[in-house]
Amino acid sequence: MELSNYIDTIPDFPRDGVAFKDITPLLRDQTAYSFALDKIEEKFSGTKIDYIAGIEARGFLFASALADRLNCGLIPVRKAGKLPGDVLTEKYQLEYGSAALEIRKDSVPSGARVLIVDDVLATGGTAICAANLFQEIGADLVGFAFIISLSFLKGEQKLDAYRTVILVRYE
Ligand code: AMP
Repeated sequence: MELSNYIDTIPDFPRDGVAFKDITPLLRDQTAYSFALDKIEEKFSGTKIDYIAGIEARGFLFASALADRLNCGLIPVRKAGKLPGDVLTEKYQLEYGSAALEIRKDSVPSGARVLIVDDVLATGGTAICAANLFQEIGADLVGFAFIISLSFLKGEQKLDAYRTVILVRYE
């Protein structure tokens, strides 16, 4: 199965100059979606994982199914201002300006093994931000899983120190 056949590239979305990778064709094809989950599951079978963390919003679409398959808890990593209660906030730089991600401070116990999941790895800023949040509360990062990497943006290099699974690369 060639997963790239189920990913659309939308030019100039959400703004000029961005080639947006749309995973909705992959989601609506039961075989392709299941195949993508199989591939990630396979790569981490035999690895001890306690929690799967999904990055808002498209990361949730893969993280939740994977958490169920791998018998893990699911942790939503949310954009700033969405989570109630005692949260930890970490800022990161965007091309224009900055953004922030949050997790609950009691998301996972210290030493818990966490796998972070998102749809697309671009510059790696989002992924590193999520990693910092979990490290701050003492989690043990198992690594990352992405459906897509935009390799030319060199995000993978930022994640060099971690185990990173990628299903489709765009050079
Ligand atoms: P980055 O922090 O640069 O690695 O960007 C990754 C985040 O932005 C992920 O949550 C992606 O969903 C989103 N993203 C960045 N670039 C794209 C793109 N070309 N197509 C779809 N999503 C993208």
